[in-house]
Amino acid sequence: MMLKKIVLYGLLSVLLLITITSCGSSSNIGTSYPTVNSEASLHKPYVLLISLDGFRWDYVEKYKPQHLSNFIKNGVSAESLISAFPSKTFPNHYSIATGMYPENHGILSNIFYSNKKNKVYSIRNRETVTDGDFYGGTPIWMLADRNKMVTASYFFVGSDVEIRGVRPTYSKDYDGKIKNETRVSQVLDWLALPKKQRPHLITMYFSDMDDTGHRYGPNNESEIKKALFNLDENLGDLFAGVKATGLPVNIIIVSDHGMAAMSTANLIPIETIQNDSLFLAIDNGSMVNIHPKDGVEIDAVFEYLKQNEGHYEVYKTEDTPGFEYLPKNKDWGAFQLIPDPGYYFSNEKNMMLLKQNNISTIGVHGFDSENKDMHGIFYANGPAFKKEYTIPSFQNIDIYPLICEILGFEIPNNIDGTISNVQDALNPDND
Ligand code: AMP
Ligand code: ZN
Ligand code: ZN
Repeated sequence: MMLKKIVLYGLLSVLLLITITSCGSSSNIGTSYPTVNSEASLHKPYVLLISLDGFRWDYVEKYKPQHLSNFIKNGVSAESLISAFPSKTFPNHYSIATGMYPENHGILSNIFYSNKKNKVYSIRNRETVTDGDFYGGTPIWMLADRNKMVTASYFFVGSDVEIRGVRPTYSKDYDGKIKNETRVSQVLDWLALPKKQRPHLITMYFSDMDDTGHRYGPNNESEIKKALFNLDENLGDLFAGVKATGLPVNIIIVSDHGMAAMSTANLIPIETIQNDSLFLAIDNGSMVNIHPKDGVEIDAVFEYLKQNEGHYEVYKTEDTPGFEYLPKNKDWGAFQLIPDPGYYFSNEKNMMLLKQNNISTIGVHGFDSENKDMHGIFYANGPAFKKEYTIPSFQNIDIYPLICEILGFEIPNNIDGTISNVQDALNPDND
C-alpha cells in the first residue's frame, strides 16, 4: 500500500515537472501553485492585464495609434488612471497587483529603506527585488491561486518573486531585453494550452513608452510617435491572436504613471544635500526620504535641512503634500524633501553625462497626481465590459477589485481599492 502511494506520488511529480517545463516557465516546483484549474475555474472568463510603463493619459488622443484606438472604440476607457504617490514604477505596479497603497503593501518606491530588514531596497539590486519579505498584500495571482486558478505572467512587478511561497503558475524572471514579439507569442501559447492548464489570469508588461519618455521627454513628438506606433503593432498582433482563440478574454490595459518634461538645468544634485553623520538620504528624484541616524537629535536634522533648502522644501513626513492618506509607515523616514515645480533630484554623475551629451530635456515622473502629467491610462475590452463607453479618472488601486469581480473572487476587505468607482465600466448583461 505504502509503496503504491510512493510510486503514485513519484509519477505525479514527474507529470507536474513535465507540465511546468513544457510551458517555458521558470522553476516553480515545490510550491502550492495549481498546475490545473479547478472545475469552477474552468467555467470562469479570462483576464489579460497589460501594463504599458509610463504611457501618459493623453498619448492615444494625441497620436491616434490604429490598434489601440480601435480597442478603445469597442470597449471602455477612463479619462485617466491616477497613480499613487510617488508616481514611480514599482509602487504603482504593486498597487495595481494588490489593490493597496504603497504605504500598506510595503514597496514604497523604486528605492526605499526598510527598517525591518535594515536594508535599502532598490530596483537596481536583484537581490532585494527578488526578496519576497519586502512584498506585502496579496497580489492578484496569489488570490487566483487560492481560488485554484492557473495564472501566468510575462513580467509584472512582483511576479518574478516568491511572495510567501507563491508565484504565478507560469512566470518569467525579468529581462527587459526580451523582444515584445516573444512576449506576445508566449501569451498566445499560454492561451492555446489545454483548458485544464490554460491560465485564466495573465499579466504582461512593456517598457517602451517609459524608456522613450525618459530619454527624449514626453514632448518629443517624433520619438514618442515612433515608439507608440511600434508598440501598437505588437498590441495589434496580440489582439488578433486573442480574438482568434474565440475565448472570452477581457483585456485590461493600464499604465503605472505618466511623464513630465524636465529641463536638465533644473536638476538638483543629491550630493549637495547628503550628510552621512546626520541622516540617510534615499533619493527617488521626485522625493528624498530622510532617515535621521540613531542618536542624532531629530529636530536638529529638521533645522539643518530647513536652513539648506534650495529649489526644494523640507516637510515632516506627516505634513508632506501628495500622499492620499496620512503616512504612518516608518520606512518613509522622518522627513521628505520635495522639489519645487519644474525641479527634480539627480546626482553629479548623471548630470555630467547629460551635459556631455548636450541633453537639455528629459522625461521624469514621481510627482503627485495633482500634476496631470503623472496620470496613466485605463482601457478595457471584452465581454465583461461596456462598449464605446467612457468613465471618469479613477485610482489604480481600484483595478484589483475590478479583476476580482470579473473572475468571481470575493473582494478582500483589507485592500484600499473599491469596486464603486469602476463598477460602471462593467457590462450589466454579462453573466
Ligand atoms: P522607473 O522609470 O525608474 O520608475 O522604472 C522603470 C524601469 O523598471 C524599467 O526601465 C524596467 O526596466 C524596470 N522594471 C520593470 N519591471 C521590472 C521587474 N519586474 N524587475 C526589475 N526591473 C523592472
Ligand atoms: Zn513606470
Ligand atoms: Zn520611468
